[in-house]
Amino acid sequence: MSVKEYKCGYKHCVCESIMIPASESVVVGKRRYHKECAEMHSKIERIKRIYFDYIDDKSDYVQVVGVINNLIFIKKYDVDYVEFVMKHVAIYSRNIKSPYILHTIIKKNELIKEKYNDENKRKGVNDRFAYRTGIN
Ligand SMILES: [Zn+2]
Repeated sequence: MSVKEYKCGYKHCVCESIMIPASESVVVGKRRYHKECAEMHSKIERIKRIYFDYIDDKSDYVQVVGVINNLIFIKKYDVDYVEFVMKHVAIYSRNIKSPYILHTIIKKNELIKEKYNDENKRKGVNDRFAYRTGIN
């Protein structure tokens, strides 16, 4: 008897095999995702929301999504780091007129890197963001 399997519906599937045993799949919208893919999807949705709600709501949606996907899936930055940078930008440097500047910030901003790598400082930024926005 064969186990029922689904093909992961996530465009950026992060798993080794695109097939998912039914018991391990998670429904997102009308599709089935790996758990890891569902988690990645929701983290990216959150990053987009931070950008549009707290950094700049006038940027082009497709450009913003393109930059975020590029950072995570092509340049391989950790999704949690990208979220942290977004929060930091939202709190400390909101004057952003183009999402492309995020490439430079993520690559070159040593202060943000240092804060991310220091548990207390990282918590400080997260707390401050949560306090400002009500988002944890
Ligand atoms: Zn997947």
